[in-house]
Amino acid sequence: MHYLRCITCGKRYEPDDIVYNCSCGSILEAVIDLSEVENIFDGVNPSVWKYSSFLPVEKKASLHEGGTPLYESINLKKDIGYKRLFIKNEGENPTCSFKDRGMTVGVSKALELGMKKVACASTGNTSASLAAYSAHANLECFVMIPSGKIALGKLAQAIIYGAKVIPINGNFDQALEAVMSASKAFGIYLLNSINPYRLEGQKTIAFEIYDQLGEVPDRIILPVGNAGNISAIWKGFKELKGAGITDALPKMSGIQAQGSMPMVNMYIKGEETLVPEKNPDTLATAIRIGNPVSWQKAINAVRESKGLMESVTDEEILAAQRKLSSREGIFVEPASASSVAGLMKLHENGDIDEDETTVLITTGHGLKDPNAVTESIKIMDPIDCDMDTLRKILGE
Ligand SMILES: *Cc1c(COP(=O)(O)O)cnc(C)c1O
Ligand SMILES: [Zn+2]
Repeated sequence: MHYLRCITCGKRYEPDDIVYNCSCGSILEAVIDLSEVENIFDGVNPSVWKYSSFLPVEKKASLHEGGTPLYESINLKKDIGYKRLFIKNEGENPTCSFKDRGMTVGVSKALELGMKKVACASTGNTSASLAAYSAHANLECFVMIPSGKIALGKLAQAIIYGAKVIPINGNFDQALEAVMSASKAFGIYLLNSINPYRLEGQKTIAFEIYDQLGEVPDRIILPVGNAGNISAIWKGFKELKGAGITDALPKMSGIQAQGSMPMVNMYIKGEETLVPEKNPDTLATAIRIGNPVSWQKAINAVRESKGLMESVTDEEILAAQRKLSSREGIFVEPASASSVAGLMKLHENGDIDEDETTVLITTGHGLKDPNAVTESIKIMDPIDCDMDTLRKILGE
């Protein structure tokens, strides 16, 4: 059994209420009965639905999401002088980002509610994922994207899975406002991360890390955009503790791009409310968000866990992306590389201890955004294929 609860005033809502905000204006979370969950953390076959006793919905639409590899860093950790470093590579999901974990649960919920139409605003990956799950579940899908600010691979995905793609003149924050009003007005089920069922799916990242590592890491580092994922992963670890399965909790460390860092500002200034960034700008388009909808949950996660928020520049992101690819063989999109850039910055600044066991969440696959690579790294001019030239280049 579960219900929805306002995180600010505590007002209760029932599972069949189609509601995203509390009447007080704040946001909702799902409350799970932890006395009913199963301790199935045996390290075998992790996947979103392995942990269904923690989930408030039955599996109705699945493309085999989750079960992503937890790589142990070999070279990168040596380069930066770190001891135990792991990479949870969420790019290895069905549509190549962690959004699939939320969508399998969110779209299952849409089916349970009997909804026929679903929608989201998206910087790219949410639309790719929702489009795929809607196709699988026979739902009509509308996605609103900031025109010209979405990576090529993600746009191709949304189109080919058959969603109605609606580019808007405006940024993500404006697209989200529009889709929220439209969903309410036209009876469409909204599947942005303001929908608490999305976060229920995403909290399984915490379960898988514990399952695969056999312990709770000291620190989690991940990119923060709309701030749903950091909130979801924290909720997952707290539920493991609440159920008596573990007793440790990780320090939640969120990274934003310097041109788009309202959560970092809030954290550094110790403020109680978020001041939105009106003109967010970064080449890491997945985190180009100025008014994160889950800011309250996220700041709680950071403060309660004694974690932190840090920013990185676009140059640092690109350098980190290249480093992770060339040193570990793991190719991630720019937003995801901000976890790596963040770790390097925190380590340089002495903000973290090199004895900590740290897990970096890499949120999306590198092939989502090929232009980020080809536009920043040049290859040599074409050559003639004669042996003299080849000898020079190949070093014989
Ligand atoms: C959605 C997304 C993020 C940001 O996650 P939030 O839950 O919005 O904070 C980061 N990286 C990638 C690749 C994403 O798709
Ligand atoms: Zn409320």
